[in-house]
Amino acid sequence: MKIKDITLTQEKIRLKTPFITALREVHYAEFIRVKVVCDDGSFAYGEAPATKAITGETLESISSAVEALRSSLVDKEIEDALEVLHKAYCGSSAKAALDMAFVMLLAKQKKQTLCEFFAIKDKSALQTDITISLNEKAKMLQDAKDAFDAGMKILKIKLGADIIHAIEVTKLLDKELREAELLIDANQAWSLEETLQYLEGIQECRIALLEQPVKADELEALKMITQKSRVPILADEAVFTFEDARKVVAMGAADMINIKLMKCGGVTKAMEILEYARKKGRTCMLGSMIEGPYSINITLYLAFAYRDVVKFIDLDSPLLYEKLPQELDFIYDGATISFKEQ
Ligand SMILES: [Mg+2]
Repeated sequence: MKIKDITLTQEKIRLKTPFITALREVHYAEFIRVKVVCDDGSFAYGEAPATKAITGETLESISSAVEALRSSLVDKEIEDALEVLHKAYCGSSAKAALDMAFVMLLAKQKKQTLCEFFAIKDKSALQTDITISLNEKAKMLQDAKDAFDAGMKILKIKLGADIIHAIEVTKLLDKELREAELLIDANQAWSLEETLQYLEGIQECRIALLEQPVKADELEALKMITQKSRVPILADEAVFTFEDARKVVAMGAADMINIKLMKCGGVTKAMEILEYARKKGRTCMLGSMIEGPYSINITLYLAFAYRDVVKFIDLDSPLLYEKLPQELDFIYDGATISFKEQ
């Protein structure tokens, strides 16, 4: 099965409410969608959003990377195309869009469903977290309560540079939502000292993890935090690739790793990290950017395939869309995700 053509479009889906973190404010899920067509007529889609603040890529740079790669991929067998793709020098999100389409085509080539391809045995439902955007205290409490009342029990709280606000919000949510599981994401907004001040300030609170408090490249600081913290530390922006994951684990710089297709370069690369985590007995979060439905869909297959390793699922993009998309093989009932067909 050879690749015949690769085309792309730019898509956008309006969000119910703006998504706000320490790094950015987003009103739409905007992404490039690639369509890879093979000589036997089969085809598959892949997607990549622009997250300039994180991967450095824009919609334009993703498009031009795909355009530039096209001639080296067309007329190749899928396996060969994957090899060429991952040797190429381009952004990780552009790679992820093509990689996921290639993986779906590999499954088609083997005449396997994606469940068979990923060897998914246990199809019982999983829970995603839901993101609570960075806002003033009262608004964050209201948003968190609304989410909890709508059945979302795992809340991912986005905090910003103001460490006093961060401590107060955490204490407030801990007090008001005793039954919720709280995941705290600082998106690199704090210094080492501020992080220690935060951890001191919230010692009485029950939080499940603290994600990427310091800058991505401050691994020594992250390690120090991990050593001192009784709350598990999750590395996000610090880990893009398999090599990054191995380094963080070897250093003991974090307790857990947040794997996202857009950072590592796609499904095949995410699987390498997941296999490594499984071997090392480490747990991960499987996350995403604000992404389109096809990329969330394939990530959900990974969540089911690696449910022993994936302790938290941060795949709430479809819940943020104004309307639930048709492209998913899954149903979201609040935060509960199950297969459309068992
Ligand atoms: Mg994060």
